[in-house]
Amino acid sequence: MAVKDRVPVPELEPSVRKGNFLEVSQGYTFELAHQEAQRCLQCKVPTCVSGCPVGIDIPGFIKEIIKGNLKKSYEILKSYNYLPAICGRVCPQEVQCEGACVLNKIGKPINIGALERFVADFASQEGFEDEVGRLSFSEGISKELGNAPRKLTDLRSKKVAVVGSGPAGLTAASELGKLGVQVHVYEALHEFGGVLVYGIPEFRLPKEIVRREVLQLETLGVELIKNIPVGYAIHPKELLEKYDAVFIGVGAGTPKFMGIPGSELNGVYSANEFLTRVNLMKAYKFPEYDTPIKVGKRVVVVGGGNTAMDAARSALRLGAQVTVVYRRTEAEMPARRAEIHHAKEEGIEFLFLTNPVRYIGNETGKLVGVECIRMELGDPDESGRRRPVPVANSNFVIEADVVIEAIGTESNRFLLNQFPDLKTNKYGYIVTNEYGQTSIPKVFAGGDIVTGSATVILAMGAGKKAAEGIVKFLVY
Ligand SMILES: Cc1cc2nc3c(=O)[nH]c(=O)nc-3n(C[C@H](O)[C@H](O)[C@H](O)COP(=O)(O)OP(=O)(O)OC[C@H]3O[C@@H](n4cnc5c(N)ncnc54)[C@H](O)[C@@H]3O)c2cc1C
Ligand code: SF4
Repeated sequence: MAVKDRVPVPELEPSVRKGNFLEVSQGYTFELAHQEAQRCLQCKVPTCVSGCPVGIDIPGFIKEIIKGNLKKSYEILKSYNYLPAICGRVCPQEVQCEGACVLNKIGKPINIGALERFVADFASQEGFEDEVGRLSFSEGISKELGNAPRKLTDLRSKKVAVVGSGPAGLTAASELGKLGVQVHVYEALHEFGGVLVYGIPEFRLPKEIVRREVLQLETLGVELIKNIPVGYAIHPKELLEKYDAVFIGVGAGTPKFMGIPGSELNGVYSANEFLTRVNLMKAYKFPEYDTPIKVGKRVVVVGGGNTAMDAARSALRLGAQVTVVYRRTEAEMPARRAEIHHAKEEGIEFLFLTNPVRYIGNETGKLVGVECIRMELGDPDESGRRRPVPVANSNFVIEADVVIEAIGTESNRFLLNQFPDLKTNKYGYIVTNEYGQTSIPKVFAGGDIVTGSATVILAMGAGKKAAEGIVKFLVY
């Protein structure tokens, strides 16, 4: 195989997968992974690593695949990233490690995500996942403390509370757990994982995989405590008294709404509610799970990000004909290219340069249509993207039984307001230094609640950096 050609990852056929929630990507076999790994040039200065927010030794773990030493490969992955089976599936590698791979100059980059997933799944199948997980050390932080055993001993007497079990909280907890810190993770929901369990659907990220990797944190001594919404069940003051440091990783899951006429109609959902019902509450397994969800015949999804793609593809699998309405063009869509490609393959229709202006209901208050207007692109806005501008007198109506708004999320101020003197910016996100330290010295934060809605790996990178900050705060 020429170095420029990528080994394709087997996938379920669109006609098969669109009727169920089975995982679309089937992952590499050993033979395929081995072939793909051999394309890696093992660069002396690996640009891929600089593209990875948690700095994984990418050539290192790939080299061990080539040698057939998959346990060693897993050890390398795990020492940098405690959630490789998850990241291998959902990270936007195309704009991170793979985007920075030198092979882009002559062809396709190494499929780093698929290799990462393969090694993590193999570790689970072969049963060495927990053993490696338990013994893994923290690259970076432990290097710094390596020559200071007293400091490591000091750390074992420290207690840290982590609020929120999304990728940021889980990563902070795993990095601290690897160093022997006593960590308690408080999660408001009845499942751990944040967006990984309530947002991203089963067909992209099976929940069993999330459960498996999350529960591994317990092998590090991390205590996972669910059904505890901090701010309701425990006051932050109590955490500040009981713990030596607190990490806030509560995400930014409060949905934004279009706020157009008809928003109150029966059949108008936020993507957050729709996906939570489908994923966390397992509506797709109704009546086995007692969460009904009605999508009707025609669903309109508003938005162009990953959330919009997940909502659209979930609605399709529940039996609806789905149209995605996006106010810019395909080139500006923030969703991963692979998700857009999969959505199109499955038969989802896209209306670009289109925006809803009104939801239309019948006499019983049920949604029956969406009035839209055509848009055109004007001058760039503050995000650098060209601003969509309505085209006068271009309104038209699409029939719809359900509309799902996926136009972004924001922070929930309820908890933040209870921390005395916690500084937030004008958008309501927590202000931190580069180590995640907030205006309250013993309180650290990271992930979407600091950056606004971003990605799994950026949240993990922030959790890792904050763990480093917490260690410094605790021992120096
Ligand atoms: C539908 C959807 C699809 C996405 N797809 C992708 C993708 O494919 N790839 C990608 O990289 N990114 C994707 N993202 C973005 C990514 O999931 C987020 O950036 C990431 O999960 C943020 O991690 P976090 O730890 O900051 O917060 P979250 O994942 O939001 O986790 C926060 C956790 O804190 C808990 N919590 C909140 N308040 C409290 C409280 N008071 N007490 C206790 N617990 C609390 C919440 O219940 C939640 O479990 C997607 C997002 C969505 C919504
Ligand atoms: S940049 Fe690409 S080819 Fe080079 S080490 Fe990284 S993955 Fe391999």
